[in-house]
Amino acid sequence: MATDPVSDEEFSVERCFTVHKGNMPVLLVAGHGGRWPLNAVPKRSRPRANTVRDDNTNELLALVAAAVREQSGGTCEPYTVSALCHRRYCDLNRSEGDASEHALATRYWRYYHGTIGAMVREMVAAHPHALPALIDVHGQSWRKDTVLRGTQDGRTTPRLLALYGSAALVGSEGLLGALHAHGHAVYPPLDVAIGTHATTPEHASFNGGWTVRYWSGLAADTPEGHAATAVLAHDGHTFVDAVQLEIGFHFRDTASPLMATFAADLARAILRWHHHYLVPHEHRHEHEHEHEQMKQHQQSQSQQQ
Ligand SMILES: [Zn+2]
Repeated sequence: MATDPVSDEEFSVERCFTVHKGNMPVLLVAGHGGRWPLNAVPKRSRPRANTVRDDNTNELLALVAAAVREQSGGTCEPYTVSALCHRRYCDLNRSEGDASEHALATRYWRYYHGTIGAMVREMVAAHPHALPALIDVHGQSWRKDTVLRGTQDGRTTPRLLALYGSAALVGSEGLLGALHAHGHAVYPPLDVAIGTHATTPEHASFNGGWTVRYWSGLAADTPEGHAATAVLAHDGHTFVDAVQLEIGFHFRDTASPLMATFAADLARAILRWHHHYLVPHEHRHEHEHEHEQMKQHQQSQSQQQ
């Protein structure tokens, strides 16, 4: 039997992630897009363990982050965390106990969620009047030309919905509504009120996993949430509104020009969402120069085209 060539002490978990510190209250994460083996960790073998990676979500996340930077004239940069190891060794969108069956994989899980926690705390500290948000980028092939919303029918975005109602997600300046305004199909359809029986519920397989449930505070009162809080939230509970986006395969197909177009449109949707909902109105003047710069930048770009 092959032995592990690298001891636990030498295993460098920080090399298993691409991390970028941003300057706006938006954190983009992708936990299922990795391709690497995770050292000598065996493949997860539990029944019901999903071991299939989400194709090209890391690549899409990088395109979206670059497009946000470019469209804002360099003034807005999201925080980002992308996992580089394959889901078959550790599922970062599960609770710690469910994520892996090996101590190194647990370190990998803790590094990912610990990094998210550090970024969440930094966003909250740097933008005390904003509503910081986490977007968890995933991939699905149920509807290849559609983006599925995963918020546990609004329960992982409690602050936005309390302040602004469903429009904060499905209105024309909401994250999903803005994406739809750019011509992309979203699911559920843009019903008026999220989380009431008058609306179409989110797809049961894509309605928001551990990451959005934990980091929004929804899982905090579960035993697993308590365990995670003990590990991750060293200096108190800090939670944010969190949206899982399940991106159809056509938008993640590196052979198709649609991928870059979609990334640019998702970046536009994120910027609209940020300006209209994440940054509060009474503090918007602090960001007005960003709007001006962005408009000028977009005008000069469209003149060039
Ligand atoms: Zn996924």
